[in-house]
Amino acid sequence: MVLDRLRRGGGGKDPKKIPDGLWVKCPGCTKTVFKRLVEERLDTCPECGHHFTMTAERRVEALMDAGSWKEIDHGLTSSDPLGFVDSKAYPARIAQSQAKTGMKDAVITGHGTMNGIKSHLGVMDFRFNGGSMGSVVGEKLTRVIEAATATKQPVVIVSSSGGARMQEGVISLMQMTKTSAALARHSEANLPYISVLTNPTMAGVMASFASLGDVIIAEPKALIGFTGARVIKNTIKQELPEGFQTSEFCMEHGQVDLIVPRQEMKSELSRILRYLAPQAVG
Ligand SMILES: [Zn+2]
Repeated sequence: MVLDRLRRGGGGKDPKKIPDGLWVKCPGCTKTVFKRLVEERLDTCPECGHHFTMTAERRVEALMDAGSWKEIDHGLTSSDPLGFVDSKAYPARIAQSQAKTGMKDAVITGHGTMNGIKSHLGVMDFRFNGGSMGSVVGEKLTRVIEAATATKQPVVIVSSSGGARMQEGVISLMQMTKTSAALARHSEANLPYISVLTNPTMAGVMASFASLGDVIIAEPKALIGFTGARVIKNTIKQELPEGFQTSEFCMEHGQVDLIVPRQEMKSELSRILRYLAPQAVG
């Protein structure tokens, strides 16, 4: 449901893609800015600091030390357990997202070093079917968490998702418990998990692994929540507070520990990991 609204552009900020060409219009300040300058600043606006949607591949590049990254489970792809058809058949929808992104599904997982600290990492990509979590996303995240536990390393997950993937029905919902259980075992082994919330992190993803971090970091002005604002407003029949479901609101109300601009994310993550996981410092 949330995902549908995000696609239609309601219920929150519509994620803007950077179009091809030299210039890009910033949805934050409405200025037209030089695309190369946006890219140099890790897909943030040089004028106002607006955070554009970032691909998972660029995110991995931005966080991990050059040459250290090893992707795992690259080839996992979804089946069509329900024979689901909405405006198009589920396998056709997956094929379309694969062609658009060059990814097999909505998450990249692997391991490497972050300023010299050995860490496992999962990064979601909103371009792939709204970053929705079906069986592949849940399985890949569970495997990367379990690999981190087995190697006594920390794990970092960067979320960007409209929630569970409706085309896989209850199998998508089961991924919430599966990822949470893997994180519980990671925690029992006294190993840290840092959750990074980016725009948007909603619904079944926020209600499972994204909100379970020992430290929860958000990018500025990200949309964070469970149900979309319009649904909540219609259900409780009350006006919602200004800025409801933003990183800043969540931090004020104790759901987020830190707000970190993207350009400082790697240094901040490695600073925290150095403290929480000294055994992983190479
Ligand atoms: Zn701007």
